[in-house]
Amino acid sequence: MDFNAFSSKIQFKFKDSEKALLERAYNFSQKAHQGQKRFSGEEYFTHPKEAALILARIFPNATTIAATLLHDVPEDTKVNLSEIEKEFGKEVASLVDGVTKLGKVRLRNSKDKYYVENLRKMFVATSKDIRVILIKLADRIHNMRTIKYVKKEKQKRIAEETLEIFAPIANRLGIGEWKDELEDSAFEIANPEGFKKTKGILETALSGRETALKKLQRDVSTILKTEGVKFEDLKGRVKRMYSLYKKLQRYDGDVNKIYDLIALRVITQSTADCYAALGAIHKHLQPLPGRVKDYIALPKPNGYRSIHTTVFDSEKNVFEIQIRTEQMHDEAERGIAAHWVYEEEGKSDDINSIKVQWVEDLQNMQDEIKNAEDFLQALKIDFFQDRIFVLTPKGDVKDLPEGATPIDFAFSVHSDLGFFMMGAKVNGKMVKINHELHSGDVVEIIKTKKPVKISQDWLKQAKTSNAKHKIRHYLHENQSGIFNTLKNLIKRK
Ligand code: MN
Repeated sequence: MDFNAFSSKIQFKFKDSEKALLERAYNFSQKAHQGQKRFSGEEYFTHPKEAALILARIFPNATTIAATLLHDVPEDTKVNLSEIEKEFGKEVASLVDGVTKLGKVRLRNSKDKYYVENLRKMFVATSKDIRVILIKLADRIHNMRTIKYVKKEKQKRIAEETLEIFAPIANRLGIGEWKDELEDSAFEIANPEGFKKTKGILETALSGRETALKKLQRDVSTILKTEGVKFEDLKGRVKRMYSLYKKLQRYDGDVNKIYDLIALRVITQSTADCYAALGAIHKHLQPLPGRVKDYIALPKPNGYRSIHTTVFDSEKNVFEIQIRTEQMHDEAERGIAAHWVYEEEGKSDDINSIKVQWVEDLQNMQDEIKNAEDFLQALKIDFFQDRIFVLTPKGDVKDLPEGATPIDFAFSVHSDLGFFMMGAKVNGKMVKINHELHSGDVVEIIKTKKPVKISQDWLKQAKTSNAKHKIRHYLHENQSGIFNTLKNLIKRK
C-alpha cells in the first residue's frame, strides 16, 4: 500500500499542509522500520499504518495520525526522538514520546484491585495529553486484531491487560466502538471458560427471539408512522458477550433478570423527536415500571446520551428500546473524539477544548467510586497536581509526591535499596540522587555491595515521609553507634 492508497482510506478532507505532513510521516516511518517483521511475517510497518487507520476512523486529526504512524520508531528502530522532533516538530515528538513512555508500563499478574486502578490512573497522569491515550488505544486494537500470531502464554497476559486497563479507559472516554472491540477480542483469550458459558447462555436466550424482534421492529415502525414521529433508522442489537458476562455476575447468573439482551434502536433527527418517539411507543406498548432512563437529560459520566425504556410486545416478550439522535449515536461510538471534531471542524488545530474535557472527565471519575475508603484513596491519586507516577525497569508503578527524587524512589521499592544506593539512572541516563523525577520516568537504582554512608543532605533531598523516616533512623543509629564506641573506649581506659 502506498501513501495514496493509505490516505484514500481516511474519510476526511485534510488541508494540503496536513496531507503533506501525513505523507512525510508515512514515508519516514516506513523507511525507519524497513526490514523489520511482525510475528505474522508481515512488514513491521503494517502495524503503525493500520493503527493510524484505526485512529483516523474516529479521530481524523493530522498531527495525531502522523504521531501514530511514528509511534514505534524511537523504541524499535535506530532513529531516535530528537530526529523525529527535528523532522516533525515538538508537538508530534511529544505525542510519540508519551506513547513510548506508556509502552513501558506492564501489568504484572496482579489481582490487586488498587494496583489495577492505579495503573489506569497512571496511564492518565503520564499521558497528560488525551491524544497519547487515543494512539495507545489504537495501537492496542491493532495488536489485538493480530494476537493469534503471538505465543500462547503471552496472549493471555495481553488479553487480561486489555480487559483490565484498555477497555475501561476506552469506556471512560465514551468510545463505545473501541471498548466493544477490545472486550470482544480479549474476552475469549483471557477467560475461555467464562466465554463459553456466556456464549451458551446467550444462544439459549436468543433462540426463537429473532422472529419476535422482527415483529417488534415492524410494530414500532407502524406506531411511529401512525403517530407522525419522524425517524431515520430502526434496528436491533444483541448485547455484547463481555458486557453480558459482567451483568450476569451482578444478577447471580440469572439471564431472565437481564432485560437488554436484545434492544431495538430508534435513531431520530432531533432531540424533540426522541421524546416524541418515547411517548408514541409508550402509548401503544406497555412499559415496564421504573425502567425508563433518560440519559439525554442526565448523560452518563462518560457522556453517553440516549433514552432507554423497556416494553412488553403484544406477546408479552420483554424488549429494551433505545432512542437517540444520529449525533448521539455517533458520539456513543466515538466518545471524546467526536466532541473534538464537532467543535473544531474548520478551525485551527487547537487542542485546548479537548484538554478541558479531559480534566472534567477525571473529576467525574469520583462519582463512580462507591465507598468512602475507595474515595479517599482515589482522591489522593486523582488530584495529582502533587503526585507523580514513575516506573521501575520492570514496569511497576510507584506513586510519589511531586518533587520526589531517586532517594524516595529507592526507599519506596525497598529500604535496603535505599541504604545500598550509589547512583540512579532515569530513562537510561545517569542522574544525581537529588534529581527531580517526573511522571512516566523509568528509574533504575544502581546498587553497591556494601551499605553506603548516608549524609544529612539526604534528609533534605528526600520528599516522602517514608524515606525521611528511614534516613533519620539511620542517622540516629549511626551517631549513637559512634557515641557507644567512644564510650566503650573511654571505659576501657
Ligand atoms: Mn505499536
